[in-house]
Amino acid sequence: MRLKVGILGFGGLGQAAAKLLSTKQEMQLVVAADKEGFAYNADGLNALEAIAAYQEHGSLGHLKNFGKLSQNSIAEAIAPDVDGYFLALPNLPNTFMASVAKQFIASGWQGVLVDAIKRTSAVEQMIALSSELETAGITYMSGCGATPGLLTAAAAIAAQSFAEVHKVEITFGVGIANWNAYRATIREDIAHMSGYNVDLAQAMSDAEVEALLEKTNGLICLENMEHADDIMLERVGICDRDRVTVGGVVDTRNPKKPLSTNMKLTGRTFEGKTSTHTFTLGDETSMAANVCGPAFGYLKAGKQFHQRGIYGLMTAAEVMPAFVR
Ligand code: NAD
Repeated sequence: MRLKVGILGFGGLGQAAAKLLSTKQEMQLVVAADKEGFAYNADGLNALEAIAAYQEHGSLGHLKNFGKLSQNSIAEAIAPDVDGYFLALPNLPNTFMASVAKQFIASGWQGVLVDAIKRTSAVEQMIALSSELETAGITYMSGCGATPGLLTAAAAIAAQSFAEVHKVEITFGVGIANWNAYRATIREDIAHMSGYNVDLAQAMSDAEVEALLEKTNGLICLENMEHADDIMLERVGICDRDRVTVGGVVDTRNPKKPLSTNMKLTGRTFEGKTSTHTFTLGDETSMAANVCGPAFGYLKAGKQFHQRGIYGLMTAAEVMPAFVR
C-alpha cells in the first residue's frame, strides 16, 4: 500500500511534513498548497524542490512543471486520487479549519483529513461537523499533532492503570531558532498570553510580534491554556475537562528546548493507591518531529478506518496511530 498524500499549508510544519514524507515508503506527497498557489504531480512531488520554490519565490505555485499560482489554492488542490491530507494550515481566525473541512464536504471528495489544531473551541467546531463528515464519506482525525495529539494519546494509555484519573498535566518546551519559521504557531501562542486573544494576535504586524518578543527576551511562557486535550479526554470518559491543564515555554531564539516536554497523569488505582505516570519526550526531538510524525500515523490509521467504511470524526485520544514505514 502506498498512500497518495497532500499537505495544505506549507510553512514550518508543512515543509517539515514534506521532508518527513520523502523518507517514507508507504506514503507519497502528490500535492501541496500555500496561500498563493499549489503544486501537484500524480507521480510524486520532490520535497526539496517544492521547499526551494516556496522559499525562493514565495509560493509552491512557482514550482517548475507542477506549480500553479492561485488565490483559491485549497479548492484547486482537492484531487480525487489523494487518499488523505494533512492540514498544516494556521487556524486564524479560530473558525478557519472548520471552514476548510466544510469546503472538503462541499467538494464531494472522500478520504482522510488530519489536523493538528490546538484550541478546545476549534476542536469543538470539528466535533459539531461529525455527522456531516460522516455523510460525506470523510474520516476526519482531529487534534493529531503533539499537544493535542501525541501527549493526549499518551494520557489515554496512562489512564488505563487507574480507576479514577485526578489530573493530567501537560507541559511543553519548544525551541526554535527564529519565530519566522513558524509564524502561525507563534501568533497562536501569543493569543494565549494574558491581554491577548486570537483576533488581536492575528491582527498584529510582524513588527509588533518582534517588539513583543524583544520585551520577553524571545520567550513565551504559557499556563492554563485553552487546549483541546481537555475535551478530547473528556469525550472518551477518562476525566472531566477541568482536570486537564496545559502550559509550556516557547523559546523563539534558540533551537534548544527550554524544558523537556512531558505529560503527567495522576490517579487512584483500583487498590486505592495514588500514583503518577510520566511520559517525557526526548529533548532532541523537535516540535516538527513530534507533530508531523503523529499526524501521518493518524492519517494511516484513518485510512484503515476509511477502507472499512468508517467515517466521521475521531480524535487522537480515541484511536491508536499506525506507524508509517
Ligand atoms: P506557518 O505560518 O509557518 O505556515 C502556514 C502556511 O499556511 C503557509 O504556507 C501559508 O501560505 C499557508 N496558508 C495560510 N492561509 C492559507 C490559505 N487560506 N490557503 C492555503 N494556504 C494557506 O504555520 P505553522 O507554524 O507551520 O503552523 C501551522 C499550524 O500548526 C498552526 O495552526 C499551529 O497552531 C499548528 N501547530 C500545532 C501543534 C500541535 O502540537 N498540535 C504544534 C505546532 C503547530
